[in-house]
Amino acid sequence: MRLYEKTAHELHEMLTAKKISALELTKDLFERIEEKDSEIGAYLEITKSQAEQTAKIVDEKISRGEKISALEGIPCAIKDNICTKGIKTTCASKILENFVPPYDATVMKKLNSQNAVVLGKVNLDEFAMGGSTENSAYQVTKNPWNIERVPGGSSGGSAAAVAAGEAIFALGSDTGGSIRQPASFCGVVGMKPTYGRVSRYGLVAFASSLDQIGPITRDVTDCATVLNAICGLDEMDSTSTPAAVPDFTKSLISDVKNLKIGLPKEYFVKGIDKEVEDAVINVTEIFEKLGAQIVEISLPHTEFAISTYYIIAPAEAATNLERYDGVSYGVRVDGADIVEMMTNTRTEKFGEEVKRRIMIGNYALSAGYYDAYYLKALKVRTLIQKDFTDAFKNVDIILTPTTPNAAFKIGEMVNDPLKMYLQDICTVPLNLAGLPGISLPCGFNKENLPIGFQLIGKPLDEETIIRAAFTYEQTQNFSNKIPQ
Ligand code: GLN
Repeated sequence: MRLYEKTAHELHEMLTAKKISALELTKDLFERIEEKDSEIGAYLEITKSQAEQTAKIVDEKISRGEKISALEGIPCAIKDNICTKGIKTTCASKILENFVPPYDATVMKKLNSQNAVVLGKVNLDEFAMGGSTENSAYQVTKNPWNIERVPGGSSGGSAAAVAAGEAIFALGSDTGGSIRQPASFCGVVGMKPTYGRVSRYGLVAFASSLDQIGPITRDVTDCATVLNAICGLDEMDSTSTPAAVPDFTKSLISDVKNLKIGLPKEYFVKGIDKEVEDAVINVTEIFEKLGAQIVEISLPHTEFAISTYYIIAPAEAATNLERYDGVSYGVRVDGADIVEMMTNTRTEKFGEEVKRRIMIGNYALSAGYYDAYYLKALKVRTLIQKDFTDAFKNVDIILTPTTPNAAFKIGEMVNDPLKMYLQDICTVPLNLAGLPGISLPCGFNKENLPIGFQLIGKPLDEETIIRAAFTYEQTQNFSNKIPQ
């Protein structure tokens, strides 16, 4: 077994027992990237010399007999919408093709202070808008289980890198499912924490009231470990929560006895693939055998989640993306005067999907339509939040599929944005309500593509979904499998 196939916690043990060195581990990962990435296309930028330098620092600490933290020396990949000081951060957009941030995002400060080894920056849908990573202005990332399939998105590079053994863990961002859906498509674990748990400082804004950074890992233990490293109040993000951060690894307990798990009937309606439905039902049966209680619940406003999300997210995006004007950030395309310069820059350097969302967003926010669209969407958002509040009076967590189907073919939906938007049905309600959710693998379909399910927690209760996810994971043996 090569080192790239292992989890962060296994590698941590090996590092502390001096069975391997951090440099050896880092080199193994770069070797794997070299072998694999021309096929997978996860990485936009490799940061080899910095990575090796960090690994050497960790090795020196170990040789001095110092204790190392859980992520010290562990190789990771970072979604390219998270600012990295001195390292290009493009958001997979042409408009930021030359943008080198002068500062680190708070999550990067945290990872760097732990001496996690950053291997490089990975692909995404441009500005995180999409669900297949096909909207990247640079390259198409392939699903490691089947390279004719998408890896999901927008954190497709992060999920594909972890699944392919090109990183031990990755950071992604999730505005409407962009961590959980690619994790599901690639057969790995992905968590969107409660809104406010992780600082958004230095995460390039897509839709500020929905965006959240989170981990993509090979198992639940690593998920808890990475969460420990990145959560916490940050004075640089006024929406980050002052709530105390527990040690999430304390929730790695195999016990769901008497846990009440809600199964929302609205998530099992037509349009969901039979194999996905069966796999998720199978999960509920496993939980029942382990002593949990499965309760049917209703989240009646689920059917409005997609339309609500696709008003609010583009409205916020239109506002956030105003800053790319050829002056403050990124590249400039010249014009006769300032208006023409801005027009040329935005016309030439933004991709189709980004333009579509800017137009939808500005339309929904315009004086004549604000009440009919944006304000209405905010009201429905409140109803969707209330659905969850009501449901959580009776259950501890909620279980759903992560996506209505397994990974689709590259090119299958690029020309049908509405169809692509419908893919987000199971994931966007959590962002609208600010709730934590985790996706974990629960099997494969007949075509050997991974299927994932989602556990939804109460606000700030990542602990219970980690415990339930860990308990389920103990009954399975496929979470460490690397596709051949
Ligand atoms: N697929 C959704 C969208 O296109 C979610 C994206 C995300 O979470 N960043 O907006």
